[in-house]
Amino acid sequence: GCNEVHGAFREAMRKKKIEDEIKIVQTGCHGYCEKGPLVVVYPEGVMYNRVGVKDASEIVNEHLVKGKPVTRLFLTDPISVDQVPKYEELDLFRKQHRIALRNCGMMDPDSVNEYIARGGYSGLAKMLDTMQPAEVVNEIKESGLRGRGGGGFPTATKWEFCSKAKSNKKYIICNADEGDPGAFMDRSLLEGDPHSVLEGMIIAGYAIGADEGYLYIRAEYPLAIKRIRNAINQAKELGLLGENILGSGFNMELKIKEGAGAFVCGEETALIASIEGERGVPRSRPPFPAIKGLFGKPTIINNVETLANIPYIIDQGAQTFASVGTDKSKGTKVFALTGKVKNSGLVEVPMGISVREIVYEIGGGTFEGKKFKAVQTGGPSGGCLPESKLDLPIDYDSLASAGTIMGSGGLVVMDEDSCMIDVAKYFLTFTRKESCGKCTPCREGTMRLLEMLEKITAGEGEMADLDRLERLAKTIKTSALCGLGQTAPNPILSTLQYFRKEYETHIKDKK
Ligand code: SF4
Repeated sequence: GCNEVHGAFREAMRKKKIEDEIKIVQTGCHGYCEKGPLVVVYPEGVMYNRVGVKDASEIVNEHLVKGKPVTRLFLTDPISVDQVPKYEELDLFRKQHRIALRNCGMMDPDSVNEYIARGGYSGLAKMLDTMQPAEVVNEIKESGLRGRGGGGFPTATKWEFCSKAKSNKKYIICNADEGDPGAFMDRSLLEGDPHSVLEGMIIAGYAIGADEGYLYIRAEYPLAIKRIRNAINQAKELGLLGENILGSGFNMELKIKEGAGAFVCGEETALIASIEGERGVPRSRPPFPAIKGLFGKPTIINNVETLANIPYIIDQGAQTFASVGTDKSKGTKVFALTGKVKNSGLVEVPMGISVREIVYEIGGGTFEGKKFKAVQTGGPSGGCLPESKLDLPIDYDSLASAGTIMGSGGLVVMDEDSCMIDVAKYFLTFTRKESCGKCTPCREGTMRLLEMLEKITAGEGEMADLDRLERLAKTIKTSALCGLGQTAPNPILSTLQYFRKEYETHIKDKK
C-alpha cells in the first residue's frame, strides 16, 4: 500500500501548497516490517506506523502545517505531544548498530546522488587513489569480517586465495539467492541500498584482480532486480563502473543473473553451475571456486550483507569496524526477527549481544500471557535454542557450540504453544523438497528422517525411533555432499538435544 500512501501525501501537500517546502522521499525498508507502511517526518524523526491513505491529510494538516504530531498513529497507548519519541528511541531500534543497513530507510535507493551524499563511493575513491590490491585484502583481514551468508568463513582468507591464483580472468559474484523461509535480509538491502552492494563488489573485484562480476538474484525479488539494474546504469554513467573507473585504469563489468528459486543454488558450486547454464547442482570440492570457479576461472562469491559491509570498512577503516563485536566475530549481523514476538522485523545488532536482549529488549518479548519456549536461528540449516540459552552471546562460535548456526540471519521466536517436533518437521520438509538428489545421504536420508518425524507426530512412534533419528541425522551430517545436506539434520539434532522430553511425550501419549 506504500505507493497509494505516497500518492495521498503528494495530493495533501499540494492542497496545502507545501510541496515546494517539504520533500517527500520513497525509501527502502526501515526494518519495522509488521508496522508498515511507515512514514518518518524529519527533522523530528517521528515514525508513523500502519499509515493508510486516509491518514495522509491528517498528518499533513496537523504535523507538517501546524507542527503537532498525530499521536494516535505511532503508538498504541495514548501519549501527549511533548512525549513523542524519535524513532531511534523505540524498542526495535534502540539497541541496533547499523553498518550494513546504514542507508536503508534513509534515502531514495534509486538515487545515486543521495547515496554519494551519504558517503557512498568514498571507499571506492579512497581505494583507487591510495591502495594496492594487497592492501585492500589486508584491510579486510584487519577488520575481522567473516562471511554473512552462513558459514562465517573469514572474507579476507577467501580473497587471498583468489588474489594469489594465477589466471588471465577472474570473477566476483554476489550471492543474492536468499531462500531461507522467513529471511529477507538480502532483499531489504538490495531494495534499500543497491549501490552499497555494487560498491562492495567493485572493491572486492579490485582486491582479487577480477574485471567481471555477476549478481545472482532470485527472480522472486523483482523490485531488488529493478533497483540493482538502475544502480548499475547510474554507476556506469558516472564512471564508477565499466572501463577505467574514476580514471584509475581499473575495469569492472557487472551483470545480473536471475535465479529460478532453487534453494540449493545458494550453495557456491551450484550457483556457479546455474550461471554457466547448467542444472544447479553442487559438485565436490576441492577445487574450491577461489581457484577454479565460474567458467573454470578463479572466482569469489560473497553474500549481499558481506558486500554491503566492505565500502564501510574501506572508507572508515578496519579498526572502526573491528571495534564493534566480539574477539572472533567482529562487526554486526542483520537478523530477520519473526515468529511469536511483539516487534518483528529486520534488525542489525552488534555481535556478542545476547539472545535475551534481541527477544525481549528489541523484540518486546512474546505475546501477553505466553511463555517463551525457544528461538530458532539459521533457518533450515540451523537449530533451536531453549530458554536456558537466552543469555548466550550471538556470535559464530557460541552459536555453533550450542548446536546451531548463525546462518544468513533468520531468527524465529516460539512460545509455549509451539510444538518443537512440528518445527523440526517444517524445516525438514523444506530441505527434503529442496534436496537436489545428487547424493544418497541427503536424497534418501532426509526422506527417512521425515518419515520418522511423521510417524512420531501421528502418534505411531516408539522410543527406539529417537535413537534411529539421531543416528541417521549424524550420518547425513557427516556424509552429504554439500552444505544443504550437511546441515539439514540440525533442526532435529538440536530439538532432540534440548526438547527430547517433548518427543518422548508424543510417543508415550499414544499409549
Ligand atoms: Fe544435493 Fe543434498 Fe547432496 Fe547437496 S547434500 S548435493 S543438495 S543431494
